[in-house]
Formats: sequence, C-alpha cells, structure tokens
Amino acid sequence: MNVTELARRLKMNTKDLLELLPELGFDIGKRAIKIDPRSVDKIIRTVEEYQKKKKEAEQEKEVKEIKLDSHEKKEIKLEKIIKIPETIIVNELAKKMELPVAKLIAEFFKNGIMATLNERIDFETAVIIGEDLGFKIEKLSEEEEQRFRDEGSEKKLKELIKNKGEKLEPRPPVVIVMGHVDHGKTKLLDAIRETNVVDKEVGGITQHIGAYQVEKKGRFITFLDTPGHEAFKAMRSRGGKIADVAIIVIAADDGLKPQTLEVIGIAQKENLPFVIAINKIDKEGADIERVKKELSEINLVPEDWGGKTICVPISAKQKMGIADLLDMILLVADMEELKADPTLPAAGTIIETHVDKGEGPVATVLIQSGTLKVGEMVVVGEVAGKIKAMKDFKGRLVEAISPSMPARLLGLKKTPRVGDILEASTDKKKIKEIIKQSSYKKTMAAVKTAKITGSEKSEEEEEKKVPELNIVLKCDVLGSQEAIIEAFEKIIDPDIKLKVVKKGLGNVNEADVLTAEATKGLVIAFHVSTTQAVEQLARDRNIAILHFEIIYKLLEDMEERLKNLLPPETIRTELGKIKILAIFRTEKDGMILGGKIVEGKARPNTKVKVIRNNESIAIGNLFELRSGKQIVTEAVKDEDCGLSYKGSPVVKVDDLMEVYEEKIKPRELIKS
Ligand code: GDP
Repeated sequence: MNVTELARRLKMNTKDLLELLPELGFDIGKRAIKIDPRSVDKIIRTVEEYQKKKKEAEQEKEVKEIKLDSHEKKEIKLEKIIKIPETIIVNELAKKMELPVAKLIAEFFKNGIMATLNERIDFETAVIIGEDLGFKIEKLSEEEEQRFRDEGSEKKLKELIKNKGEKLEPRPPVVIVMGHVDHGKTKLLDAIRETNVVDKEVGGITQHIGAYQVEKKGRFITFLDTPGHEAFKAMRSRGGKIADVAIIVIAADDGLKPQTLEVIGIAQKENLPFVIAINKIDKEGADIERVKKELSEINLVPEDWGGKTICVPISAKQKMGIADLLDMILLVADMEELKADPTLPAAGTIIETHVDKGEGPVATVLIQSGTLKVGEMVVVGEVAGKIKAMKDFKGRLVEAISPSMPARLLGLKKTPRVGDILEASTDKKKIKEIIKQSSYKKTMAAVKTAKITGSEKSEEEEEKKVPELNIVLKCDVLGSQEAIIEAFEKIIDPDIKLKVVKKGLGNVNEADVLTAEATKGLVIAFHVSTTQAVEQLARDRNIAILHFEIIYKLLEDMEERLKNLLPPETIRTELGKIKILAIFRTEKDGMILGGKIVEGKARPNTKVKVIRNNESIAIGNLFELRSGKQIVTEAVKDEDCGLSYKGSPVVKVDDLMEVYEEKIKPRELIKS
C-alpha cells in the first residue's frame, strides 16, 4: 500500500505519519513510498490507538485547565495589576491579561456585553470585568498614556503606510525646527515663511495651523512650526517621528546648550537626518568657528572640516542664508528618496487641534500617504465622520490634499488629539465598524453606570444622544426578516440610529404594541396581519402599525422617516476677506466700519468672522455694504467699502473679516 493512501485513511498528512511511525516502533524508513501489506493492519491499529490516547490526554488537560481557571488561577492572579489608558481595545486588554481573547469576550458576554475582538471599551468597564477575572485594573498616568498612545499611533501609521502602494511618487520633505530656547526657531520659521511662501494673495496673511509649505526651485518643502520650548518636549519628540528632516538651530553667540544636545539626541535616536543652522551671525559676539568646534567635540564634524555634518550660517533676523539652508534641506531630502502613493486612501497624523468659535472643532492633519478629498469618510482617533471642508495654511478652501501637505479639517464632530492618526476609508464596512464602536461606547457607559449606581444615565450618554427610530419588526418568514435587517444595517449615518428593538415571526400582537410604546417606536408588519383588538390597542396608545408587502417600499418609508429626524446641515460658502482700515462709529451691538476687500468679494446680509492675529475673536453679521455713499449689493477684491456690522463691537483697525454665507439644507442619509 502507498504511504500517502495509508495517511489518508488515518486522516493524517504523509509527513506526520512518516515521523510518527518510528516512534511507534515501525521502522519503514524516512522516505518510504510503499508499505509492506502484511504490516498495514498492525500499523492502522497502533496509530488509531495512539490517536485515541492522545485525544483523551488532551481532553483531560483541558478539564484540568478549566478547573484551575476557576479556582487556583483566580487566586494567583488576584494580585495582578494591569495598567491601561482611558479606553482600550478588547484584543489588547486580553494581551495585557495574558488571557485568550475568547475567554475575555465570554466574560463580557456573561455581563450582558456583546464585545468583539476590535471593540473599544472604557476604563470603568475594564475595571468591572477585570475584577471578575481577578485583576486589579489601574489607569495609566498621563505621561504613560501619552506613551501608550504614541506607540499605538506609530504602529498604526507604520501599518497603514507599510503597504505603500504601487504608484509611488516623490513627495515634499517634512521639516521640523528644533533647538535651545531663544536661539531663533520662531524667527527662522517666520523668515522662511515671509521670504518663500509662494503667493501673497491673501494680503500676505498666512494662518497658523501648525504647518506651512514653501516653494524652492519649483519644489515644495513642508515646515512644522511646533514650538520648541521645554513644555513641548513630548510634542517635539513626536514631531521628530513625522518629520523627514530636522533643522537644529544654534545661536552663534551662545553655542551648544543642554536643549541643543537633547534635540540632537532625539534626532539621532529617531534616525532623523538634520542640518545645523548656525543662527544670529549678524550679532556682535557671534562665533561660527566656536560652534563648529563644539559640534566636533560631540563627533558632529562639519563638512568644511572634513566631516559629514551640514552647517549653514544664517541670520533669521536679517533673512540671510535662508536660501542656502533650503537648498541643503532639499539635498538631504533627495538622499532620503521620499515617496508616497497619492492614489491610495489618505493616511496622516493630527498635528494641531483647537475649538474655533465659528467653525467648531478644527484639526490640522499632515497627510503622509494617499490623497484626502472633501466629502470622504474618515476615522480620526475615536471620531468618524465626513470631511465637510478643508483649508490650507493660507486659509483658502481646498478640495484635495496630497502627501506631505498640511490642511485644516472642518466639520469634525469632536476635537481629535494631537498625534491621532487619520485614515480615510473607502471601505464602508470599516467606517461602519468604527461608528458602531462609538455607539458601543455609549452602551458601555450605560452598562457601567447601571452596574455601579443603578439605572441612572451617564453624562456621556446624555451628551451624545442622537435621534433614534425604534422598530418592532414582525415578518412572515425568517428570510424576509433577515433581508430587512441587513438593509437596515446599511444605514450607517452617525447622526441617527435605526434600532430593531424586537423582532419576530407571526402576526402583530399586544406585546409588540406595548414594546413599541415603551421604546417610543413603531411596529412594522411585513406580510403579516393584526387582530381588531391589537389595532384598537395601537390606536389607544398612539402607536403606528405600518403594513408592507414589498421590501423596497418599506425601506423608502424608513429612510424618509430617518431623514426627517436628521438635524439639517449648514452649508457654508466663503465669499472673501475684508481688511478693516477705519472705525466710523461704535454702538452697543454693532459698528460702522471702513475696509478694503483683500480676497474674493463681500455682500450684504451675510455672516462675518472677525480675525485678529490669526485667531477668531467674534462672529457677527454684515448688514449693509457701501461704496462711497452708494449702497451696493457686492464689492470685489481691491475695492474700498463701508460696512455696517452687527455683533459684539470689538473690531479694531487691521482686523480681518472673513465673509461667508450660511444655508440650511436637509441632510442626506449616509448609507454603505
Ligand atoms: P526661539 O525661542 O528659539 O523660538 O527663539 P526666537 O525666534 O523667539 O528668538 C529669540 C530672540 O532672538 C528674539 O528676540 C529674536 O528676535 C532674536 N533673534 C532670532 N534670530 C536672530 C538673528 O538672526 N539675529 C539676531 N540679532 N537676533 C535674532
């Protein structure tokens, strides 16, 4: 008989069988192909006996483990302390507990929580589950949490960028400026911005969004303008991770200082190539040679001394040497061969966030791979949503941003955190999963408070409440029920929830109506009927029973109802910018002003945002517009105008007014 045939009969693979036979005392040779027919029966009997024993032993071991699990193990682990951040993914918690994830999920299940592998749970829930499993769960300190998040983000970004794509194209280098306090980082960033930002159509005004781009020899360079002071140490080391090249600023009159050494250390640790900018060479007491000597002493020998460290003497104040510095950066960047695939869905890092009075949560993202477009669905940290609008660092609305470009994102529901990873996804399933997770967090919060304090609702739940349409679904056959639920699941809009609170087969009965009443919902009867009594009850309780025969009609009806529940969308159209040149009159709730249109146009009966030093300080209305003495319906770029402004009378000369229109539009439902 063939060895392969024998293996098949024993439900083993040939290799395993050949390895096992000598162990069981059959010497047939490692490469045997045929087996003596006289031995076949004996081999089969022996192997089957062996397999049976092995299985029994395994089962016994399993039983022992389960026993151990419920008694001894629990005691052993009672003392085990685990530190976690504010929220954690189930899978990671299992890893930290050194438990099979299935066991953890089972524990959640016991507590009435349906958590899957990638679900995010909050700290309090972890504490409760942890206790049941014999763990003491503690919260990470802020610093530890930051580290945890950084590591997670970095890992995630690496994973995202790992599949770098096939259409790789060169991308601009991302540069960070580092150095000792007062050595001139800010001044240098200003000097670069002023001398090299390409066009100055917005009256030379660039917005502070945490990064900007300059053009040199037809190529772009992105600068991160993270402050370099002691307090921003964490940010700086993170900045190091998203940057491609660093400029280390050393003041020629001060030389190498503790922070200079520290940032050199960071760059070396991160394998971040750097250029040394020896600054303040205009100053009395400036000594370039001394700086070079100090650099050589720490093994950073300057190029003109025969070493490899690039040093460029500059004066940020006098704007000297800036062009050379940029040339050197491009040179270093070329050696790095920086590339990205702009055709992929975007991935990037959040580098700055704040809440703007007029615009709500705003975040600056630096795109590291792919292209991000307005209208795309994104996931940023724990927030998922649609990109409503993007502005570049000059405050202009842009439709798309490609690798190494920074842009300010508008329309996010919540402010993400600096360092969070942004992922655009065309994978609707994935977005849905994340949206589900965020609503899941709400259920968690409810479970948690119910467990701890009874049934009071948590603050978080109150806060994040979205309109819900609750449904009791009754169908004639399971197939229809499944098809309807599947269609419902395609509605993934984060601002609304369609929830089947009860489902079943058969006619609508009293209990169905009462469930609908308790959940303020309605009953759907698909191919099923009701009795007179049930109809009467529904009328008494003011509960709708909707009868349908065709699925798409049912869906159309539900979508219409959901749309009516959705909060309307505000569409904002930017018109232009006015620079304020004169204040004519100040009243309690408004001002008469004179100004010049520096970008786009202005129209009366619009909204305005008052900007001073790149910060929004007030929102008001532009009521009337005049050109000379004439009331006009529009003024365009470079025209002087008089305006009557309604709003807080805080406007000063040199302020900038962003003029925009707002329209309320019914929202479409987001479906996958
Ligand atoms: P940072 O703390 O590194 O951001 O330093 P700043 O950019 O705020 O500069 C600190 C001080 O040094 C400021 O008073 C600057 O005006 C001054 N400064 C910066 N660069 C130069 C330069 O090239 N020459 C001279 N003379 N002063 C400079």
